[in-house]
Amino acid sequence: MATVSLKNLTKVYGKVEVLHGINLDVEDGEFVVFVGPSGCGKSTTLRMLAGLEEVTDGDVLIGDKYVNNLEPKDRDIAMVFQNYAIYPHMTVRKNIGFGLHTSGLSKPDKEKRIEEVAQILSMTELLDRKPSQLSGGQRQRVAIGRAMVRNPAVFLFDEPLSNLDAQLRTQMRLEIKKLHQRVGTTIIFVTHDQVEAMTLADRIVIMKDGHIQQVGTPSEVFQRPKNMFVAQFIGAPSMNMLPGTQVKGGVQIDGGPLLPVVAQNEAAKITVGIRPSDLHLAQDGQAVLMEGAVTIVEPLGTETLLYVQVGDHEVIASASGRHEASPGDKVKLTASTDEIHLFDTATEEAI
Ligand code: ADP
Ligand code: MG
Repeated sequence: MATVSLKNLTKVYGKVEVLHGINLDVEDGEFVVFVGPSGCGKSTTLRMLAGLEEVTDGDVLIGDKYVNNLEPKDRDIAMVFQNYAIYPHMTVRKNIGFGLHTSGLSKPDKEKRIEEVAQILSMTELLDRKPSQLSGGQRQRVAIGRAMVRNPAVFLFDEPLSNLDAQLRTQMRLEIKKLHQRVGTTIIFVTHDQVEAMTLADRIVIMKDGHIQQVGTPSEVFQRPKNMFVAQFIGAPSMNMLPGTQVKGGVQIDGGPLLPVVAQNEAAKITVGIRPSDLHLAQDGQAVLMEGAVTIVEPLGTETLLYVQVGDHEVIASASGRHEASPGDKVKLTASTDEIHLFDTATEEAI
């Protein structure tokens, strides 16, 4: 196991700077997930950490050791990619053992290590099969096994689940989480899927356009997003965002209601953010925040999403259980004050 530090990591391709100084300290044994839209620089960061991509500027430290000039094989890391390559002509045993081909271990020691890894991954019975005799999830496990067998100080995963169908993805996510709980190795995991990030991470690193937007635990980034990007990227459906102007008595939403929320800030233009899960139908006697007509009803089982036209804006609210609303119904919505987020529209920063 090892700590990982990225210090002012910068990457330039040709004349284009794609990473603008990434700083991050990962603790020993921590599970850190980089998440962000496609093209934001996640893979580049991971590949520089792995030694697969040259560092333009800045430092990479693994376990306090400066590794900028080390070959990937000398960094004590193992990487699993989205397009994991396992050899079709080799058995599972050989495929996993392939991770040890430069290890210098004796044959019996290699066998022992392969058996150990197979046991951790519940693949003992599959060791003598060929990849064609495995399911997609089992094949992915072989790729993970090949990374594990070397007992690296750090695991790097680059969207390893993105090629799997939804059900398998959920299952493999759980397996990777269990694996981490069992072996405790430091993991840095890259994904564009915020649900994957929220469910796996000890800490999430949210990236956009080559910059880190926020680093925090899943509940920190969900409950206290630092800016409008994070607020809308984390959580589904996305946070409702209502732009307006600060006036006496609250925020006057553009083409919408006056919301009685007070910003501790001089900013003239304020955006009010409320998650669909925090916006509910007002019960009798509850303060009404806004009202409008239902446009779409989406029953999801445990909750029902209501799309409500409030002035010029369509907001999403949630009602528990099966709500018998129909398009056209007039509804009153409420949210508790501490679940309302305010942003300076000009800087997009949380207030
Ligand atoms: P992500 O993994 O977050 O989708 P990448 O790290 O792959 O993003 O890419 C970050 C940016 O760097 C993108 O704009 C991408 O087009 C650019 N990029 C990646 N690899 C290369 C390359 N080999 N040459 C030039 N530009 C690249
Ligand atoms: Mg990528």
